[in-house]
Amino acid sequence: MENHRQQGILYIVVPCYNEEEAIEKSAERLIAKLRQLETDNMISPQSRIVLVDDGSKDRTWELIEALYEKNDSIIGLRFAHNRGHQNAILAGMMYAKDYCDFAITIDADLQQDINAMELFISEYVSGSEIVFGVRNSRNTDSFFKKISATAFYKMMRFLGCSIYENSADYRLMSAKALDALSEYSEVNLFLRGIIPDIGLKTSVVHFDVFPREQGKSKYSLSKMATLAADGITSFSIRPIRLVFMMGALSILVGFFMIIHILYEHYFGYTVNGWSSILMSVWLLGGAILLSLGIIGEYVGRNYMETKRRPRYYFWDVLSHDAHEDTQV
Ligand code: UDP
Ligand code: MG
Repeated sequence: MENHRQQGILYIVVPCYNEEEAIEKSAERLIAKLRQLETDNMISPQSRIVLVDDGSKDRTWELIEALYEKNDSIIGLRFAHNRGHQNAILAGMMYAKDYCDFAITIDADLQQDINAMELFISEYVSGSEIVFGVRNSRNTDSFFKKISATAFYKMMRFLGCSIYENSADYRLMSAKALDALSEYSEVNLFLRGIIPDIGLKTSVVHFDVFPREQGKSKYSLSKMATLAADGITSFSIRPIRLVFMMGALSILVGFFMIIHILYEHYFGYTVNGWSSILMSVWLLGGAILLSLGIIGEYVGRNYMETKRRPRYYFWDVLSHDAHEDTQV
């Protein structure tokens, strides 16, 4: 039977921030990959590479312009400011969703093995809407990154996020999954956490990670901390509930303590004032935590609701395709 998913239009989305050292070589390798996938009849010749310049301060955009001039399959998008890796990926995917059958996101340094793309595509052809890339090992990472990443994924799962451990933003999403993702309007993005939440048919592909060849890591410690904070707070109802539960528990303990305190007061040998102080510590402490939890609940909800600001704005769009509306 003819599978309509075969030879679909693939858009490869690449976030680029100050990647002047890496972008040319990476683009060359991606173009070669696209040609090879085309010859193998895995994708349509209308497939494209979307380079998203995340407000780079170096020559990245000039290099993207030059690549665009030379290659019909290159599309360039440019942010006015640095909006971060997650927003760059999202912008590229939201741009792609109207033109592609499926999109794959990959970092500009191509640390992720591009030869895993065949595996992603065959999972898509056999019916998956989202294919998660999970890294084989963290051998190329520093000791600090290894420890912090492991702790982070464990905590996220504890907080109720169905994130895949060691999943990366190397991922395939079908146009349908991208449509679903476009309904999520939060500003503080943590894609690795949101995408499993979409709930369409998913599968996993394992891939190797290589050391970065050109340039340095663009993920500073503060960018990593922001990403982690976004991850935690976008599932923030759990920590707030935890405070609420602690308050309730403290009040409960307080009531048992009252019995104990009264018993000690009348039948034991207690210092004057001990009973009243201890009672107020437990009851008041509980009441304070409980109210903090309730207030937190409102603040949390409000916070979720107010995330309506635009996430990015395109300064420039370069495309050889005559799409009627290139505005996203
Ligand atoms: N990146 C981005 N905006 C940023 C930081 C990074 O678009 O503010 C891109 C970067 O160009 C690369 C990807 O995100 O394509 C991953 O960054 P990097 O390779 O520096 O991170 P690492 O591999 O060290 O975690
Ligand atoms: Mg990298």
